[in-house]
Amino acid sequence: MTSSIIERYHHVTQRIQNACLQAKRPMNAVSLLAVSKTKPIEDIIQLTQLGQICFGENYVQESLKKIEQCPELEWHFIGPIQSNKTKSIAENFQWVHSVDRLKIAQRLSTQRPAEQKPLNILLEVNISEEESKAGFAPDALLSAAEEIAQLPNLTLRGLMAIPQKLESLEAQRQPFARMRQLLEMLNQQHPEWALDTLSMGMSGDLEAAIMEGATIVRIGTDIFGARSP
Ligand SMILES: *Cc1c(COP(=O)(O)O)cnc(C)c1O
Repeated sequence: MTSSIIERYHHVTQRIQNACLQAKRPMNAVSLLAVSKTKPIEDIIQLTQLGQICFGENYVQESLKKIEQCPELEWHFIGPIQSNKTKSIAENFQWVHSVDRLKIAQRLSTQRPAEQKPLNILLEVNISEEESKAGFAPDALLSAAEEIAQLPNLTLRGLMAIPQKLESLEAQRQPFARMRQLLEMLNQQHPEWALDTLSMGMSGDLEAAIMEGATIVRIGTDIFGARSP
């Protein structure tokens, strides 16, 4: 018998707690973003009954319907961003994790409605330096961040990464450790930014990410079950 969303959710929160204990970090230092892409609104509502408030979505069309049905939740956009979708994103989300070029940040800033709070943004880093992956190269990060931090209507909060899949815990920790060092570097160069967010760790590597300082883990499969392709 397959386990229910509720059982899987409790298992994931248990893994997060264990990893925090092992890393000697307080439990409330890590928040769980439930990645609900491709999953129905009923699944989301089930989790809200357990107190889950933050949900991550990758596809704009799909997410707008869900946000309309549950506007009181906190919605995070985590997918690839096409220029023609920035307006919907700027108007409907509280967070964007996947800012990977200056132009996208500029558009989000221009299109964020003035009466809303600034949009929280994270810069995506291509930490494993894979050709096929989005994100700023580590050595391009500081100058990009300096431009983006000046944009109105956005608050730069930190960094996000999707490292290459690696099997062992020790191997998984390395790119996450580099992410932590990049965040420290930015905070040293610009203490006024007070960056406080590292979005890293998914179903297969959340323990390694928490050991290296993740403050948001993004979990889909291990909560909602496998997605159909
Ligand atoms: C789909 C997705 C996740 C969740 O991945 P799982 O392996 O299903 O936990 C996390 N982050 C991003 C950016 C994603 O696209």
